[in-house]
Amino acid sequence: MAEQREKSADQMKLWKESRGGQKPDVLTTGGGNPVSDKLNVLTAGPRGPLLVQDVVFTDEMAHFDRERIPERVVHAKGAGAFGYFEVTHDITRYSRAKVFEHIGKRTPIAVRCSTVAGESGSSDTVRDPRGFAVKFYTDEGNWDLTGNNTPIFFIRDAMLFPSFIHSQKRNPQTHMKDPDMVWDFWALRPESLHQVSFLFSDRGIPDGHRHMNGYGSHTFKLVNAKDEAVYCKFHYKTDQGIRNLTVEEAARLASEDPDYGIHDLYEAIANGNYPSWTFYIQVMTFEQAEKFRFNPFDLTKIWPHKEYPLIPVGKMVLNRNPTNYFAEVEQMAFDPSNMPPGIEPSPDKMLQGRLFSYPDTHRHRLGANYLQLPVNCPYRARVANYQRDGPMCFNDNQGGAPNYFPNSFTAPDHLPSAKESRFRISADVARYNSSDDDNVSQVRDFYTKVLSEEERQRLCQNIAGHMKDAQLFIQKRAVKNFTDVHPEYGSRIQALLDKYNAQGHQKKVIKTYTQHSAHILGNDKSNL
Ligand code: NDP
Repeated sequence: MAEQREKSADQMKLWKESRGGQKPDVLTTGGGNPVSDKLNVLTAGPRGPLLVQDVVFTDEMAHFDRERIPERVVHAKGAGAFGYFEVTHDITRYSRAKVFEHIGKRTPIAVRCSTVAGESGSSDTVRDPRGFAVKFYTDEGNWDLTGNNTPIFFIRDAMLFPSFIHSQKRNPQTHMKDPDMVWDFWALRPESLHQVSFLFSDRGIPDGHRHMNGYGSHTFKLVNAKDEAVYCKFHYKTDQGIRNLTVEEAARLASEDPDYGIHDLYEAIANGNYPSWTFYIQVMTFEQAEKFRFNPFDLTKIWPHKEYPLIPVGKMVLNRNPTNYFAEVEQMAFDPSNMPPGIEPSPDKMLQGRLFSYPDTHRHRLGANYLQLPVNCPYRARVANYQRDGPMCFNDNQGGAPNYFPNSFTAPDHLPSAKESRFRISADVARYNSSDDDNVSQVRDFYTKVLSEEERQRLCQNIAGHMKDAQLFIQKRAVKNFTDVHPEYGSRIQALLDKYNAQGHQKKVIKTYTQHSAHILGNDKSNL
């Protein structure tokens, strides 16, 4: 029987075996002092009380009290793994980034796949977009592609991000997920229609993390050795094939194996069944961008494959599980502003917002020196700059090197070839309202051309099954948006909602809510 146990279930046994009969280390305090007894507190007499001088106890307890760091506001639940990226096709005509230097070149990578809205203890099988972030430890510093499993997103203006996330998380009073909040926001912001349609399609619940694609989602810029730039999108398509969970399977796993995504990835790698993804780019010239019928920097839109075909670049392989979850996954920090020469941001408003928001979050969550942590450190490049000190500086703080610039000593100097590409901006500064920037054409293509009839039926069922818990006026507004995409899309959802509403579903929700509010307000008579 013992041989049949999974590698993850046998982790401690395997760890012991990996030590090859080595004797246990001597137990110490955090300060390294040997400990004689860690089973009994130090007391005055056998019945207590404790002595303050029991520093073995206080050392242990005080550290325990500080074990948790702030949870990520989004992407709190995740699985991490390590591996490599290998170039299979030459794209040096587009980018001089060292990661693409020559065919056969391998660059170590770290990957974190996650859900978005759930907390760190939530189930991996919920309907939610999945984060799919990749850190490339390149020779010229880290490149972080903070991608998702969808090529698009709910909003196109970074100003809306905090409100959007609030609407998908917990109600400020009830501390419960709130369908009114979720659908109110989506219905008021129809640019969300494309991503909402992806989310409620079959791909909204991927079968673990190995069977989904990843996308850099934003538009980026690639710059070659001659300083010629193009815009680009990144795609990484699963070699395991797309596989999704049915609503029923997902619900069962949510209670039986809530860590399903972490479990599946860990087991596959532990058994040598290394998952891989084929990496592609799409390329658009500046001239094409000028003429493109959509804003090419709009994160709610894709670039059609027929016009901008996928160009193969390489392969991503995951072949190592983390050796310690907290050190290597919980502390893993991705930052889209980590870009080596040859990869640059586009004007995408969401990307520009993330360039600020991600490192800002890490400085809050992990501290100003989070880039010194082994998993985040650009260990294949040498960090040399004028940043010094700060909390928890644990390397040599760049020793005696000068800490100001310019200086007359042999201190780090510029690398002119690393300069950013030059581009021209000539525009009026204003807060531009982009809410009505064609929210429906590509969603219509998705609904009519990409999905099969069965997939369309499931999509509408999934949407109605979720929206039924929102208030009627919100349902009405949302259905109008789906109708704008395609009359049949809207009418199917409405017909399903009508059935729920005729069954008294709304009344039930309202009654429960009224009782609940009455209870909160202290005038609940329902139990008298
Ligand atoms: P294509 O026919 O060339 O591509 C359609 C894409 O849809 C394929 O990449 C396919 O991925 C993907 N797809 C299939 N089923 C689903 C699903 N349930 N949820 C999400 N994606 C799915 O068409 P276009 O490039 O002209 O795009 C047409 C529409 O396809 C777009 O408006 C967009 O909605 C959707 N789409 C486009 C993508 C792009 O980057 N161009 C990427 C993903 C979706 P696969 O090959 O893995 O099966």
